[in-house]
Amino acid sequence: MALPKSSRFVVIGAGIHGLSTAYHLAQELKARGRGDGNDIIVLDKTGVGAGASGIACGVIRNNYFQPAMRELMAHSVSIWESDPRTYSYHPVGYMQISPEVMHEGCASIYAQQKAIGYECEKDCMDYMKGLFHDWQAKNITSVLHEKRGGYANNKRSMLGLAGKAESESVRIYTGVRVTGFRNGAGAVSAVETDQGLIACDYVVVGVGPWIPQIWKTLELPRATSIKGRDGNMHHNVPMWKFWCLEEGTLGVDPMLQRTNDGKLPPVIHVDTDAPLYSDVDGSLITDKMWGIYYKPDFSFGGVQGGAAPYPIERDPDEVKVDPYGPESPEYVVGKNFALMWVSALAHCQRRFSGALSKFRADEPSGGLGAFTPDAFPVFDVFRDNIYIIADSNHGYKMLGVGQLVAKEICGETSRLLEPFRFSRYAEGKLHPVSKSPFPWS
Ligand SMILES: Cc1cc2nc3c(=O)[nH]c(=O)nc-3n(C[C@H](O)[C@H](O)[C@H](O)COP(=O)(O)OP(=O)(O)OC[C@H]3O[C@@H](n4cnc5c(N)ncnc54)[C@H](O)[C@@H]3O)c2cc1C
Repeated sequence: MALPKSSRFVVIGAGIHGLSTAYHLAQELKARGRGDGNDIIVLDKTGVGAGASGIACGVIRNNYFQPAMRELMAHSVSIWESDPRTYSYHPVGYMQISPEVMHEGCASIYAQQKAIGYECEKDCMDYMKGLFHDWQAKNITSVLHEKRGGYANNKRSMLGLAGKAESESVRIYTGVRVTGFRNGAGAVSAVETDQGLIACDYVVVGVGPWIPQIWKTLELPRATSIKGRDGNMHHNVPMWKFWCLEEGTLGVDPMLQRTNDGKLPPVIHVDTDAPLYSDVDGSLITDKMWGIYYKPDFSFGGVQGGAAPYPIERDPDEVKVDPYGPESPEYVVGKNFALMWVSALAHCQRRFSGALSKFRADEPSGGLGAFTPDAFPVFDVFRDNIYIIADSNHGYKMLGVGQLVAKEICGETSRLLEPFRFSRYAEGKLHPVSKSPFPWS
């Protein structure tokens, strides 16, 4: 397909957000008699699912300490449920298993999930033993079991979503890199690519971990001012920070991780402050709070999951995002992760003891995420006609955000997206912070 010289809507990035927005925007335009998918093109410098969406563990959950995040996720979960086949979605449920320090927060999540009609159960160790006979994680005082949610297969869901967008006449151009923007009267009038200029009326940016680059190209501020909880302004807070996500696969039969009654289990997420000891020689790995998540996954071919990410203490301009994910020479997991994660699996369930040699060390995994100053998403319009979807690495599960963004582009403000405007930093409208060791909980 030859690249057009103009398109009403240009979407940059063929990940979960770019594709979901393109697909839903096509439907919205058609429903309102204001156009259709022929008015939309998606540009990706590499291909469909070439970014974070294509390597995500694929966990889909509602469980968030922040009410606004929870409401948004409940909306997204319903979109996953609307077409599980095409989205390659497995609604096995999700469990948040936590220590005393998080007990109060989990109780409040439970109460609020029930208030928004979300089916969940709260109980304790006996509940875990009822699911897995070999459960043995220490210092656990709360268990929250979401019956909805689960996980989806990353690449397959992206291809399914791309197919849906194309079925609405959206054109997806791969191998096209956006290099800049042309301005007209404040707004952007054209997108510059490595293959020519494309005039447009509106741009949607969904570039995942490449957002610091596009942000810079748009000459948006490198740092921001934040009104803190103490009422004081904190100036010059860097807008972007990279974290490296650590994930991997234990090359065992996925059915090793099944419930006592032989069923596929929910995704398990454990946070605890119990000391973690090496499953190999019993030495102490950490006496600080730690957390892991895992699920049996036939697509990854084993038990797949991850642990808390680590921050990249470097100027974001100096972080090499490309080559991305498993191809990166720098940002993939190493031996320390394998020992920590498998020891943590064994800490939780006896069946994983002695399994370190099965860790797929030969398959690089993990990848970068670009985080905002408060580690929550920014969904907002900049320069009059550029909608930026910067999910702060929360976002594979946020399939529904594209639908809400599409409605906003058509003039319908979304109550669910309101708490994620850029202005919240200056206004001090910050989200509450949980005690989880993960920056995204
Ligand atoms: C290892 C890992 C595991 C994760 N696991 C989960 C999980 O289990 N659940 C969950 O909810 N989230 C998870 N996440 C987070 C989630 O994957 C991301 O938040 C989400 O996929 C981001 O989607 P996106 O559409 O914004 O960007 P991406 O999926 O990264 O897509 C961006 C696209 O933009 C393209 N692009 C970039 N720059 C340009 C340019 N200049 N011109 C043209 N194209 C460009 C890229 O090629 C890419 O295809 C995980 C992230 C990582 C790294």
